[in-house]
Amino acid sequence: MSLLSHKRDLAMCAFCPKMCRFACPMAEVEHREAVTPWWKMIQAERIGARRAPDSPEAAAVVYHCLSCLHCRTHCRHAVDVPGALLEARAALFSRNLEDPLVCGFLARFRKQGNPFAEDLGARLERIVPAELRPAEARAVLFAGCQALRAESVVSAARRVFSALSIDFVGVFAGDDLCCGAPLWQMGDRKGFEAHAERLRRQLGACRLVLCLCPTCEETLRTLYAEVGQPLSARVENLAEWLGPRLEQRTPVQKIPGRFTYHDPCFAGRYRERYQAPRRILSFCLTEPLQEAAWARDDAACCGGGGGVPWILPGPAAAAARRRLKQLQATGAERIATACPGCQRMLGEAGGQVRDVIEVLAEALDGAGPVPGEEHP
Ligand code: SF4
Ligand code: SF4
Repeated sequence: MSLLSHKRDLAMCAFCPKMCRFACPMAEVEHREAVTPWWKMIQAERIGARRAPDSPEAAAVVYHCLSCLHCRTHCRHAVDVPGALLEARAALFSRNLEDPLVCGFLARFRKQGNPFAEDLGARLERIVPAELRPAEARAVLFAGCQALRAESVVSAARRVFSALSIDFVGVFAGDDLCCGAPLWQMGDRKGFEAHAERLRRQLGACRLVLCLCPTCEETLRTLYAEVGQPLSARVENLAEWLGPRLEQRTPVQKIPGRFTYHDPCFAGRYRERYQAPRRILSFCLTEPLQEAAWARDDAACCGGGGGVPWILPGPAAAAARRRLKQLQATGAERIATACPGCQRMLGEAGGQVRDVIEVLAEALDGAGPVPGEEHP
């Protein structure tokens, strides 16, 4: 792929009266025409044509995108704005013209192979006993860096496996515990390919990889193939994979309280997975879900996508606060979601947020909330 493959999209945006402007969280929270999808695409076209944008700041607008795809919901031409902007980032990187914020972030990422620059292996060893981290398993839970950092959702997944007598899934404990998506988001394609090759080798014996995070899922399934490192294993989302296994079950205890659901962009607009998490929640909850006015393919992003929190934490946090307000307008006391990244962003914005896997663990084993969470 290259910017050339987005020629049609770039032309469509150039002649458009910004029909999707209102749906772009970055344009809404930054209050700048320069970060509307329209203007970002104009800059991407200039980068692709090697016509220098007016200034480094003008080129840098291509990083002000959450890859949320919300613009596409309101685009009559189904333009893939984030796809083009990611290609523009890659073009800048390949010419050593990337934003200095990107260089700083990549230096941190390379320290431990994850965006938190933390020893996530040590966390994994603390929360998952050695017998559940087999060196070679046919089926693994790939927690991903965001879930490992949060810890509670990994513990909840183990509780769900135990309650459903699923004893053949180990927890992946290789050297690389992040899928590498941040490298792709920053435009470092060679770094991403090297990361993908390493992780593909570590997952070599697996036949099934279950992901907690929809960004990991999309990365392992789609982007690894795009850089010539396809996994031989089937990649599935854990919540979706669990769905049929709940059919003959009843919860030990239903969870009280009014919940709303936040659709993560990569589960929703990218994979159209709207029903599976809602079915799990209706299995677990005493009350029906309070649906937000902005939901499903019109759900606003939590601010966590596109690598934006790593380089532009202010606008990312503002997008999270904006989304939280939309969810709180439902009157629900709690928010459920199906992405550890969304859980982190909305939680840091002040929301009471739980992953559907955490809600499911509590409903299935009746042992109360995952430690570290508040009781409903
Ligand atoms: S993405 Fe579609 S609606 Fe938005 S500016 Fe481009 S052509 Fe217009
Ligand atoms: S993908 Fe999201 S953040 Fe990026 S331009 Fe479209 S609406 Fe804005």
